Formats: sequence, structure tokens, C-alpha cells
Amino acid sequence: MAGYAEIAGHDNLIEHFRRAVCEGKVSHSYIISGEEHAGKMMIAEAFARALQCTEAVSRQTGDGCGRCISCMQAASHNHPDILYVTHEKSVISVEDVRQQIVSTAEIFPYAGNYKVYIVDEAERMNEQAQNALLKTIEEPPAYVVILLLTSQIGRLLPTIRSRCVEMALRPVSEAKIRAYLERRFQIPEYSARLAASFAQGNVGRAVAYASSPAFGEVWAQCAQIMKRLPRMRMSELMEEVRGLAAAKKEIDQRLEFMTLWCRDLLMCKAAGDEAKLICLQEEKTIREQAGHISYEGIEDCIRVIRETGARLRANVNFDVAVEMMLVQMRDRFQE
Ligand SMILES: [Zn+2]
Repeated sequence: MAGYAEIAGHDNLIEHFRRAVCEGKVSHSYIISGEEHAGKMMIAEAFARALQCTEAVSRQTGDGCGRCISCMQAASHNHPDILYVTHEKSVISVEDVRQQIVSTAEIFPYAGNYKVYIVDEAERMNEQAQNALLKTIEEPPAYVVILLLTSQIGRLLPTIRSRCVEMALRPVSEAKIRAYLERRFQIPEYSARLAASFAQGNVGRAVAYASSPAFGEVWAQCAQIMKRLPRMRMSELMEEVRGLAAAKKEIDQRLEFMTLWCRDLLMCKAAGDEAKLICLQEEKTIREQAGHISYEGIEDCIRVIRETGARLRANVNFDVAVEMMLVQMRDRFQE
């Protein structure tokens, strides 16, 4: 369980939680909403740790000290007053809520001033479960703090939502994600740039990309194709089609890589030497290609890639669709 320092972005939200701890103005129930892997759990855990920290410094910084017994217990998920609501089936049932929250909320915290409940995937609570929870949320014991984490806030009942403080995670800027990846994982700038631009504001996804060897391999495959495409013979092109067919399921990611490459070509044409490229590693090739292909040609390539994605989702013949795509793109480079 980490502190706020290890979270990228979400500054406003973190500031709110920090201030709540510093000023002792903590609400009884919060909804932390945001996409999967956006960082909801990290924020909830940092807040829980700060609430439970026994060092006075935590009331000044609003963050857990990271060193006291309470913080250690929080880090190892063994804190007696930080409770994770679990469920065995795909739904969080009324029994789960009764057994794990309602019936235990009345019992005083063991050690700390608070008793924190964390309900991950709160949208999995069915209506009865939410109604069972409602009573605790309406009349909570003074020490109870309930954190509902959800990627589908619309599935929570209006009665629940109206009694909780809603905190929504927004996409984090590419620059922030990039800096975070470079700092935290010491990866080279070009990998950080790629992973960040692919993650679309989702830090967890960026981390998954950055730490996945497959991500690098896929990227290398696509870069090879784009690099050689302008001068590719038909036999080589067919070989690439077979290569792509071997990983049919991940074709979307490959198409996205190719789109990124084309986007870099556009950037190069528009901004010249000033252009900030995503595919930094292939900068020389991209600048060279950008000098030969027209604006219209690049836009056509992007359109062809997008249309091919749509056709593949409609289940057309894979090899034919991908071959057509590569041929059309190659023609644009050769005009
Ligand atoms: Zn502490």
C-alpha cells in the first residue's frame, strides 16, 4: 500500500483527501470512480493508510508516514481496521454486505480512530446489496469510512450516490504519465513515450505496457513493416500479412501502432524539426518518409487503417483485408 507520492496525476483528488485528513473533516462514504486500472485502488489505499497512520506528521501532510506499525500493516494488507469487502460469486450479494459491513460496522476499531471499508468493483453489488448498505451509509458509526470503487458509477443506486462524496478520476496527461514511467521504472524515453500515448490517460495501462516485453516486440514488428513498406516487394508484403495473421487477436494494437507512425509523419510535415515524435527511435526513417509522402497520402493511410479495423471486426477475410491495406498504403508512399 503506497502513499500519494507514488501516484501519477489526480492532483485535485489527492489534495481533497489530504485536506480531509489534515482538517479532520472526513466524510463517511466516498465513491471513487474511474476506468479499470486508472488507479482507484491506489488512491483508496493511500487515503486509508493516511487515516490510520499513528504518527502526528500524518495530520500535517495528510499522508501516511510509511514507517509506523499502522502504515506497515496497511502496506501488507494486514491492518485490522482496513477491511476489503470480498465476494465469491460474480455479484456482491446482500449476504456479503451484511456479513462484512453491516454486522461489523458497530464494532469499534481495534486500534485506530477509523474503520475503513474498501469495496472494489462496487457496481457488482446488486440492488438488495446496495439497499442493505444504505442503512450503514445513512447512519454510520462515527468512526466508519466506506470507500466504494467503481468503473460503472451508473450502476449504483441514486440513493447511494446522493449520500456519498463522488470523486471521479480523470485521464492523466501524457506528459505526466511519461515522466512517471521514466522515474519509476527507469525505462528509456522512447518506450515511455510510446506506452504513455497508448494508454490514453490511464496510468495502470501505461505501466502494463511499459513492463510488458510483448509490447516492445509488437512495436518492433510494426516499425519494421512501416519502415520497409515503401519499397516492399509483393512477396515480402505477403510475408508480413502472414506474420500479422499469426497474431490475429492483437491486430487492433498493431493497427494502432501503424496509426501512430502515420501520425508522426503528419507531425513531421507540419512542424518540421520542431515536431515531437512518439516513435522517437525511428526518427530518422520517419523524417525521411515524411519528405516523400504527401499530406493526402498520410491521411489516406490513416483512413485505410481505420477502415480495415472496422472490416476486421465485421469478420471479413483477414488475409485479404490486411493485404489490401498494406498494398494501398504502399501505393501512397510510392506516388
Ligand atoms: Zn504511519
